[in-house]
Amino acid sequence: MEYVFATGNAHKLEELRRIAAGSGVAFVSMKDAGADLDIAEDGATFAENAAIKALAAARATGRYALADDSGLCVDYLGGAPGALSARFMGEDTPYSVKNAEIIRLLEGTGEEGRGARFVCVIALSAPDGTVITETGEVAGVIAKEPSGGGGFGYDPIFLIPELGKTAAELSPAEKDAVSHRGKALRKMLARIAGGSP
Ligand code: IMP
Repeated sequence: MEYVFATGNAHKLEELRRIAAGSGVAFVSMKDAGADLDIAEDGATFAENAAIKALAAARATGRYALADDSGLCVDYLGGAPGALSARFMGEDTPYSVKNAEIIRLLEGTGEEGRGARFVCVIALSAPDGTVITETGEVAGVIAKEPSGGGGFGYDPIFLIPELGKTAAELSPAEKDAVSHRGKALRKMLARIAGGSP
């Protein structure tokens, strides 16, 4: 079965396709589904934004559509940048700069303030507007310096203590096994396999 996936982020679509490989569910980008929408992510939470995007894509294409909203929540920063992760310091600012700034903002804290989470909410909208969501999280700590060349975004500063590596030091398969996106998508694929929505 083919679902529209409402994201303009090629890295995320690549990860999502990898995670869904073998599940019988395939994703087509909004552009390839004939709807090149620019959807305003004006919700306050990951769940609201994921639902806004999935609903808009389902309405525009008349098909079942998925969307995810994700981000980095840092304890010491009160959960920021959170739902504003992509926009933190400006959408076009390189992640080398954003990552350096997060590390700088944490200079005043001890180990306990370095706790962080990647959160992902995946929403599925039916063409009639029925929406369901699933959430995945991975816990980590903000590293004192960036490390690793894989992944994207905040991966080089997100240290996963059990693995002793940043998310950017994991192979794609290792990241998918523990990531917020992997967890949320596997839950949603299980619901789809069970007949939802
Ligand atoms: P979204 O496209 O609005 O969901 O924004 C997600 C943003 O959160 C990305 O642009 C990254 O800044 C950050 N983010 C989400 N997931 C990851 C990840 O797996 N690794 C690194 N950064 C991530």
